[in-house]
Amino acid sequence: MADQRICLFGGTFDPIHAAHLRMAEEAIRQFDLDRVVFVPAGNPPHKDARAVTPYEDRLEMVKLACAGHLKFEVSEMERGSERSYTIHTLERFRKQLAPDDHLFFLIGADAFDELETWHRWQEVVGLTEFIVVSRPGATYHIPAGARVLRLDNVQLPIASRELRAKLAAGEAAPEIPAAVREFIARRGLYCLTGTQ
Ligand code: ATP
Ligand code: MG
Repeated sequence: MADQRICLFGGTFDPIHAAHLRMAEEAIRQFDLDRVVFVPAGNPPHKDARAVTPYEDRLEMVKLACAGHLKFEVSEMERGSERSYTIHTLERFRKQLAPDDHLFFLIGADAFDELETWHRWQEVVGLTEFIVVSRPGATYHIPAGARVLRLDNVQLPIASRELRAKLAAGEAAPEIPAAVREFIARRGLYCLTGTQ
């Protein structure tokens, strides 16, 4: 098989929404990727663990949203209570690839701008090339040594934080895929306050 172009997409996905799916589709199209692997964070280091929806629910929502997309996959690599650091995920993933495969990491401008706060970030930039997606209101700088492909021609004004607020207020949230909305309703997620 020819070299593969594989892109990891880490996130809290609390919940997954249309912008996550659009950015993955655009990355595939613009950078000729073979697949995008969604990796829900087990225990996001940048978020307060008590405020995050349980892993199993976030994972299930990502699976529902990705079902039917031929080039989307879901990885359970960050399952577990340990803190999920991208460097560990990249190292483990790299080992599963052939030497000539290309490894990318899909990320929004807001998250990329904080790259230098990541655990062992200098090693992270050595292991992967970033696909950085523009986001309304977000600017970013490129740290020394980071390799970046810019995906600048999308502006998607959607954020999980706002969707959690909408759901808590009982408002419609069409930015969430229908199957995920049904799951949220069935499980009674986001209806309590204090989850933003
Ligand atoms: P929250 O509001 O809870 O932070 P979020 O919408 O930012 O949620 P995350 O799970 O934090 O979603 O994001 C996962 C990745 O997707 C991050 O790299 C983030 O920057 C990116 N991302 C999410 N929404 C967008 C968007 N609308 N445009 C560009 N990038 C986005
Ligand atoms: Mg975010």
